Amino acid sequence: MSDTIFGKITRGEIPTEFLYEDDQCVVIRDIQPQAPTHVLIIPKKPIPKLVDADDADQALLGHLMLVAGRVATQLGVGDGFRLVVNNGEAGGQTVFHLHLHILAGRTMAEGELSQGMQ
Ligand code: 5GP
Repeated sequence: MSDTIFGKITRGEIPTEFLYEDDQCVVIRDIQPQAPTHVLIIPKKPIPKLVDADDADQALLGHLMLVAGRVATQLGVGDGFRLVVNNGEAGGQTVFHLHLHILAGRTMAEGELSQGMQ
């Protein structure tokens, strides 16, 4: 499987501030924020897309959700945020290393399900 920028970031090969880190994932700020708070939860295991995850990843996927909630609370946006996973090019995914977006700090338009502002 080809490496991605997130592989390099999670391995510490590209200096990036980790807002949170444990043995399974890291949390970083998005380089092109689409909302006042926009952070990425990235598993250290390089699963390319959500559909590539399997039963062995069940605990990891649950862990990422729990971390998302905790980090959102720590960032002061626990009362209202959007959690996004883009899957595949047609789903808007650009980095093929699974990650969760936390978006908060602006009104999330009803019916707007993408992470962008378009
Ligand atoms: P996707 O479109 O794959 O769901 O999301 C990829 C996200 O990663 C985008 O929001 C993009 O701005 C962000 N991103 C891409 N490269 C980098 C990088 O090198 N550093 C950081 N912090 N974010 C990145």
